[in-house]
Amino acid sequence: MKRYAEITEKNPREILLLRGTGCAWKRCAFCDYHLDYSPDKEENFELNRGEIAKVTGKYGRLEVINSGSFVELDQKTMELLKSVCREKGIREIHFESHWAYRSFIPGLRKEFGASGITVKVKIGVETFDRDYRERTLRKGIGEREPEKIAVDFDEVCLLFGLCGQTRESMERDIETGLRCFERVCINIMTENSTAVRPDEDVIAVFQREIYPRYIGNPRVDILLENTDFGVGE
Ligand code: SF4
Repeated sequence: MKRYAEITEKNPREILLLRGTGCAWKRCAFCDYHLDYSPDKEENFELNRGEIAKVTGKYGRLEVINSGSFVELDQKTMELLKSVCREKGIREIHFESHWAYRSFIPGLRKEFGASGITVKVKIGVETFDRDYRERTLRKGIGEREPEKIAVDFDEVCLLFGLCGQTRESMERDIETGLRCFERVCINIMTENSTAVRPDEDVIAVFQREIYPRYIGNPRVDILLENTDFGVGE
C-alpha cells in the first residue's frame, strides 16, 4: 500500500496515509477502508515513522489521513508529526475526523498552534441531504444543518455516484460545501467490499455536467478514483 505522495495541483501538499487503532464508528454503509488499522500502537508507530520520514516540507503543507479520525493515531505519531512540521517548515497540517470527535479539535489546534502550525480538519459529510446521509449512509452526524457542522470543521468530503443522486442534488451539495467550508473534496464511489454499489448513470451525469464546472475551482478537489491523491490501493 502506498502511504506517501505529493499533490502537485490545487493547494499543493504532501499527503500521508498513516495507520491508527481503527475507526471507532465503522458504520458508514459505503466504507471498507476502516479495515486499514491495527490495535497495536507500537506497530502503528513503526509503520507511521517510516512514512513520516519521507516528508520533505517542500510545499509547507501536509495532509494526514488515517482511514478514520486523528484521535485514533498514537501519541508518538502525533509528537513526531509535530516535530517534523517544525523541522521542515510546514505551517499547515490537515487531519480528518468523524463528527463524534469534534470536542477534541480545539485541543488539536492548540497543540500544533503552540508551534505556529495551523490545523485544518476535514469531515466526511458525503451529502447535506440529511435523510439520505443518516438513514442510508449511516454517517452518525444526526440532523444537523451544514452551518452547525462547519463550526468545528474547515473542509468537507462529499461522496457522489450513489443511487438516487442527480445533477441538482450534486450541485446543491457542492454549493453548500463551498458556502460553509473552506474546501470541498469530492470522492466518486468505486466498487468495494460493502453492499453499496457505484451507480454508473449517476457517475456519467457527474462526469458530463458537474466535473467540467468544478475541475478548475481551486477550492474543489475531485477524486474519480479513491487513489487519485496517490495513496491507498
Ligand atoms: S467514519 Fe470514515 S472511516 Fe469510519 S466508517 Fe465512516 S467513512 Fe469509514
